[in-house]
Amino acid sequence: MQEYLSDAVVLDKVQNGDMDSRFFMFTKKFGKLAAKAKSARKITSKLAGHLQPGNLVSARFIERNGLQVVDALKRNKLNIGLTELYFLNKLLHEAEPEQRLWHLLVSERFDWIEILRILGWDADETSCQNCNTGKPVAFDIGVQEFLCENCAIKTPADKLLYIVNGKG
Ligand SMILES: [Zn+2]
Repeated sequence: MQEYLSDAVVLDKVQNGDMDSRFFMFTKKFGKLAAKAKSARKITSKLAGHLQPGNLVSARFIERNGLQVVDALKRNKLNIGLTELYFLNKLLHEAEPEQRLWHLLVSERFDWIEILRILGWDADETSCQNCNTGKPVAFDIGVQEFLCENCAIKTPADKLLYIVNGKG
């Protein structure tokens, strides 16, 4: 049986019926992973406290009818908002380790401009990709483009992450 151990940041949690939960985690060794915490309510509840979004955990996964998280120990609660974690989960592809992103998250220097650059989108190198003129203030995670203020207000808020301008 394949087993994986890694530190991980819990990004999001989705209830899967009454019994199971599905966790999205950015792991140090393997990048983003989606894993179930299997049925038995007792186990799930034991793990649930450790697997809250924003927690930095040491986790153990096994491959058994898909990936399962079978153990997790909370090491720290990172100062990263739920909205940030939600968008980060949407942006990351599974199983792509990214050490620069890992270090940025665990050192709590959360910065969208830097994170988007690491993932291949450079806000400094572009103007608004909708009107081609304005300075980008936001990133549309649906079409994956930078938008200026005027274009951003026409975009649904649940697809829009505001980047902080300037690195003061
Ligand atoms: Zn624009």
